[in-house]
Amino acid sequence: MEILKQRILQEGVVLSDQVLKLDALLNHQVDPMLTMEMGREFAGRFADAGVTRVVTVESSGIAVAFATAYEMKVPLVFARRKKTLLADPDALCERVPSFTKGIVTDIMLSRQFISPDDKVLFIDDIIANGDAARGLIKIIQRSGAELVGLGVVVEKSFQAGARTIREQGIRLESLVRIMSLNEGKIVFDE
Ligand code: 5GP
Repeated sequence: MEILKQRILQEGVVLSDQVLKLDALLNHQVDPMLTMEMGREFAGRFADAGVTRVVTVESSGIAVAFATAYEMKVPLVFARRKKTLLADPDALCERVPSFTKGIVTDIMLSRQFISPDDKVLFIDDIIANGDAARGLIKIIQRSGAELVGLGVVVEKSFQAGARTIREQGIRLESLVRIMSLNEGKIVFDE
């Protein structure tokens, strides 16, 4: 997505060789027009997959997942980061390490909003090592729903997450691939 590359070059801030701050576009502020375009792009790529639900993890995935679900005219379900230790017998839970926060969080999705009849498209903001994505993929698999694929806005292809998920046979589509952040420079993978 050329327009997204331009915006990332203009508004992204390279924090280190590993981390790109995208607060202006994805993680703090959201541009509704650009986000709707991302949603149209994902909806187009997965148009023939028979998607019945779009799923993401709160919070940064929600805007683009909403845009995708809106285009596909299906519900959006977001996994919640669990803030309570109270057991919910109806919930599917996974523990995932957070790349940016350096902590472990529990994510949960109620069985009320995902069923074995569903064909699920998982949308997320950024994939790095893939821990967050693997957590939600496990939840989707345990629900009995079919995972038709994963759409991520930014794939950092110098980290292993996207590759290992594709190696599992899961279709993963990204809108931009970044192959390096070395020396403060954003280099896209064409
Ligand atoms: P993973 O679990 O794939 O290692 O990391 C995924 C999550 O960590 C993403 O959903 C995103 O919120 C955050 N993350 C990973 N790398 C970056 C990065 O370079 N920049 C930002 N802003 N967030 C990142």
